[in-house]
Amino acid sequence: MTEVSAAKEDVVATDELVVLKSVNKHFGALHVLQDIDLTVARGEVVVVIGPSGSGKSTLCRTINRLETIDTGSITIDGKALPHEGKELARLRADVGMVFQSFNLFAHKTVLENVTLGQVKVRKKDKKQAEERARTLLDRVGVGAQAEKYPAQLSGGQQQRVAIARALAMEPKVMLFDEPTSALDPEMINEVLEVMQQLARDGMTMIVVTHEMGFARSAANRVVFMADGRIVEAASPDQFFSNPRSDRAKDFLSKIL
Ligand code: ADP
Ligand code: MG
Repeated sequence: MTEVSAAKEDVVATDELVVLKSVNKHFGALHVLQDIDLTVARGEVVVVIGPSGSGKSTLCRTINRLETIDTGSITIDGKALPHEGKELARLRADVGMVFQSFNLFAHKTVLENVTLGQVKVRKKDKKQAEERARTLLDRVGVGAQAEKYPAQLSGGQQQRVAIARALAMEPKVMLFDEPTSALDPEMINEVLEVMQQLARDGMTMIVVTHEMGFARSAANRVVFMADGRIVEAASPDQFFSNPRSDRAKDFLSKIL
């Protein structure tokens, strides 16, 4: 499989931030990740697409060590992911993750949601953490909701809080696993716009999504997975206009 490097000229993407080498993982008899090689450069936006069950979520979860791998290696900014302990907590904090289900702490306010990790993991003092939280909540357009509880917010607002919470940890890379799949249609764009802005600001991002408009406009590279393998990786222009594999052609014919 040939790797295609960053396609958009405005990204200075030379430095390797996330490197997966020959990663394999099984769930019992299921070989869910098969010889995955993937390098994501600093500032690069990689969109991962593929049929349901192809291993996209598992890939994301291995990158921040929510899942272990059987063989191969994963490094974040040159450091191998350790198995456990404080070092793992710190490295995991370098990888922000936003899930399909918003996963906010229901019994904490929006402000507390975005403050907690900064104090506990990043050891910031509470006042500083709250200041940063408010700045980030403003940035994602939910500053006015800071004292509310998650259940009082719309799905789109909750997901933007989840993004702010991840950003509060000052991650080096952000992983998004189908962040808009659980949203009502009218809320999808407000979340995608926040992600677009983040991409423009130079955040390194790995995004699993079925939003092909986002892939076309924000991705430097599209990675197509099927049956636990990276079948194809190309610039969005190349991938959408001229997919090489039959699997990708078939997939695109069903969703476009
Ligand atoms: P995708 O996100 O592309 O839909 P997943 O990574 O969620 O795919 O799942 C890939 C395959 O691994 C699926 O067949 C799924 O059923 C299986 N799988 C995912 N998580 C587990 C688990 N914890 N235990 C066993 N099988 C799993
Ligand atoms: Mg998934």
